[in-house]
Amino acid sequence: MRFVSYAVGNTASYGLLTSSGDVIDLPKAAGLLGASLPEAGMIAFIAAGEPALSIARKIAASTDVAVATHKASDVTLLAPIPRPTKNVFCIGRNYKEHVAEGARAAGKELKLPEFPQFFTKPPTAVIGQDAPFYHDPAITQRLDYEVELAVIIGKAGRDIPADRAFEHIFGYTILNDVTGRDLQRRHDQWFKGKGLDRSCPLGPYILTSDEVANPDAMELSTTVNGEPRQHSNVGQMIFPIPKIIESLSAGLTLEPGDIIATGTPSGVGYAMEPPRLLKAGDVVVCSITGLGSLRTPIEAYVK
Ligand code: MG
Repeated sequence: MRFVSYAVGNTASYGLLTSSGDVIDLPKAAGLLGASLPEAGMIAFIAAGEPALSIARKIAASTDVAVATHKASDVTLLAPIPRPTKNVFCIGRNYKEHVAEGARAAGKELKLPEFPQFFTKPPTAVIGQDAPFYHDPAITQRLDYEVELAVIIGKAGRDIPADRAFEHIFGYTILNDVTGRDLQRRHDQWFKGKGLDRSCPLGPYILTSDEVANPDAMELSTTVNGEPRQHSNVGQMIFPIPKIIESLSAGLTLEPGDIIATGTPSGVGYAMEPPRLLKAGDVVVCSITGLGSLRTPIEAYVK
């Protein structure tokens, strides 16, 4: 199943994305079937666990939910988790070719990380499909893109062993880890360069984990203005998803709706020769097998 958060006019809700692109509102459709689902939004739905998923499956199979269905053209997609309850967890330097291009650009020797490198992006950075990033050259002159597979946590847990990690995953979506490279370097710690407003495009939908037999086979790619920039597959990660969850959850509780961005492959703009950074007027499209495409226009920031 594919789940979205969306708005129609001033009303925001969450729903099931159909194959035609229409959206079935989940709380409303549940009511039509004599059941109930949380009104509060996607995180509450995820936290409601298997009973809620089972109602969603009944809704997906029902022919009696037409009055709870919005036409694709009437709906504005929001980020599937529009406002995470905590920072988005991210992994840096998790694809060998990307570590290598970073070392090359910095004139340093290639050294692979021994442990996952964690940083975060604040909830205020999250935006959805087609929402613009507003570029202010007074803030950053080295704006870059990073396609990443994002894992959405379903079941809470701490000290999760790698061989139980998949039990804690609700689903997957696309995340673009938009980065100000000059800020990332200047402030040493990565938070500032990775934490700008609207620098975490997320979506367009969450695909449930039961529909992803082998995440390693998923291909990721990025285009800028239609020109191919990144292309790899999840199997190239230095620390695979189970290892990331084991390491991150050691002594740290993961909760339903938590988002983990799993790192970007090579092909980022700053490491190109010569570097090709983003500017107003560019359109970045990040795609992953089975997860669709996440489109982010870059527009000039107006104070
Ligand atoms: Mg990244």
